[in-house]
Amino acid sequence: MKTESLIAARRSESWREELRRSKKNKERADIPRVKMNELNAEYRSHSRREEVNLGLTEAQAVQEAQRCLDCPQPACMGGCPVGINIPTFVKYIEVGKFLEAARTLKETSALPAVCGRVCPQEKQCEAQCIHLKMKKEPVAIGHLERFAADYERESGQISIPPTAPRNGVKVAVVGSGPAGLSFAGDMIKLGYDISVFEALHEIGGVLKYGIPEFRLPNRIVDVEIDILRKMGVSFIRNCIVGKTLSYEDLKDDGFRGIFVASGAGLPNFMNIPGESLIGVMSSNEYLTRVNLMDAAGESSDTPVLIGKKVAVIGGGNTAMDSVRTARRLGAERAMIVYRRSEEEMPARIEEVKHAKEEGIEFLTLHNPIEYVGDENGRVCRMLLQKMALGEPDASGRRRPVPIDGAIETIEIDEVIVSVGVSPNPLIPSSFKGLEVTKWGTIVVDESSMRSALSDVYAGGDIVRGGATVILAMGDGRRAAAAMHEAFGA
Ligand SMILES: Cc1cc2nc3c(=O)[nH]c(=O)nc-3n(C[C@H](O)[C@H](O)[C@H](O)COP(=O)(O)OP(=O)(O)OC[C@H]3O[C@@H](n4cnc5c(N)ncnc54)[C@H](O)[C@@H]3O)c2cc1C
Ligand code: SF4
Repeated sequence: MKTESLIAARRSESWREELRRSKKNKERADIPRVKMNELNAEYRSHSRREEVNLGLTEAQAVQEAQRCLDCPQPACMGGCPVGINIPTFVKYIEVGKFLEAARTLKETSALPAVCGRVCPQEKQCEAQCIHLKMKKEPVAIGHLERFAADYERESGQISIPPTAPRNGVKVAVVGSGPAGLSFAGDMIKLGYDISVFEALHEIGGVLKYGIPEFRLPNRIVDVEIDILRKMGVSFIRNCIVGKTLSYEDLKDDGFRGIFVASGAGLPNFMNIPGESLIGVMSSNEYLTRVNLMDAAGESSDTPVLIGKKVAVIGGGNTAMDSVRTARRLGAERAMIVYRRSEEEMPARIEEVKHAKEEGIEFLTLHNPIEYVGDENGRVCRMLLQKMALGEPDASGRRRPVPIDGAIETIEIDEVIVSVGVSPNPLIPSSFKGLEVTKWGTIVVDESSMRSALSDVYAGGDIVRGGATVILAMGDGRRAAAAMHEAFGA
């Protein structure tokens, strides 16, 4: 059955029809949008591991679900890169069938508890919700997704999605971030023999080494990975494809298809004076050391530098995670330095709001031009060029232009540079025959995610550059469907 017919068939089930009749659309639309429960801002700004968002109560979730109009053509679904049947899971919540809601999520998403926490719903499903046309706030789809996934996990009644009988076809996945996990989830359901090769000692990619515990606890990611393991996915850690195993080795081992999901883990710098001083590092290094190596722990063998006056350069999610981590590690002054205005910031609105509540300073329209060191070579000062907004550039955002002679000096003892990432060059350079862009991303056919090598597909940040969890997952799903078709499904 086609997706539209499936959506219509589920919508016409008698319980859904009755539910729609039980309340007028106007009554539903007049219910105010739920507010996420959160930890107190002052308390949480000193607590590195406790999650900021606390989730919804059952009563809050049911009330929020009542706001959904169960539209005949649910626009919200058009905004979801993995195609979650949004009204179906929301209506299950409205009638208190929380486990059914979680099962619906898992039909198309391998990581619902993750997505419910970190996806930019305000730019995706929620941005398409019909409520916006009525000048109302959209249904809190992300909060409800988190609620259903958390309910299932906490109830101890975790369902393992059904899988087809094994077909004996071996497929390799390079990288265990959201793109690789989503691809693995779909392919194992279809009966393939899936091995995920991960360079690090932990599975999860950025979900584990990038996004901090206070936003996405590792135990939540682990539960979703464990479901994939129970479905039959094999995970091989500490294995760098392109070094430990080559493309030819994988083919010799009988892998008929390879999905490359190796991400964009190479930090960019600005190439300004002073970037090699002690105390200046990339967000990647800072967050990986704190999150994956516990370098801020008391007994760490490789402790990370802990600054009191910390400047984080950039305005994306990675910058917000870094500055909020610095605050939690004891920074008295933790600052975002961003060359455009707040309006152009790519970070999620929620992250900016939380950062401000936690006492983070925002130096917008400021751009660092030099870092100065003390006699020991440790950064002690930064020179900031003040900026104004000019005409829009190619990205549609107004271009920041320097204001002549407006330079400010600020005392600091740590700088975290968070101005974007580039793809890791290992796979593009070691898989001979791949087509690669000037930015180092792998060229694929957009609909199938197939590369110039007919048995190699790719998706996520290695194709897009730094993007989002849900776009990476959507790529994984598209690649799985296309590879399945190519194998003569
Ligand atoms: C700090 C931070 C915060 C973010 N916050 C958000 C957010 O709130 N919301 C959001 O939607 N997005 C966010 N993002 C972006 C998002 O996490 C990424 O877009 C997403 O993780 C990309 O998924 P991926 O699977 O392509 O790659 P990754 O998650 O990067 O995973 C790639 C994996 O491949 C492994 N690998 C690399 N090379 C090899 C190799 N040769 N052999 C074997 N394994 C290899 C890596 O070790 C890694 O584990 C954030 C990113 C960062 C860094
Ligand atoms: S568009 Fe909004 S109201 Fe309509 S089905 Fe989706 S979430 Fe519900």
